[in-house]
Amino acid sequence: MVDSTPTLFTRIINREIPAEILYEDDQCIVINDISPQAPVHMLVIPRQPIAKLADADESDKALLGHLMWVAGEVARQAGVEEAFRLVVNNGRAAGQTVFHLHLHVLADPSGNADFSESTI
Ligand code: AMP
Repeated sequence: MVDSTPTLFTRIINREIPAEILYEDDQCIVINDISPQAPVHMLVIPRQPIAKLADADESDKALLGHLMWVAGEVARQAGVEEAFRLVVNNGRAAGQTVFHLHLHVLADPSGNADFSESTI
């Protein structure tokens, strides 16, 4: 049975739950993570509530590419385009807690943080 309950991120997109919105277009939204794991920690979220990356199908390829492009765009806006990490947790055992696809964009504008061992 398909779960039709709106996801947390759909509720943010619909302005039912507040969030710091940094960017939005017809396909996605970018917000600040409520529990940042780095000085810059943004989430790129498609409007389409794909539960996890492995659930995307061939018709979603353009959307997935768009999300990657937006990640670079908001990194530029945040001034961290020279050094940032992009993380997608796929599945509970991989650390996914919100089952609405999202890309984590993590960076430290000061250049001091070492994210190489980050578990986000
Ligand atoms: P993941 O563990 O990959 O599913 O990531 C989910 C992320 O959503 C976590 O980094 C949470 O801190 C973040 N998060 C949860 N609730 C909110 C919220 N209301 N606003 C912004 N970020 C949130």
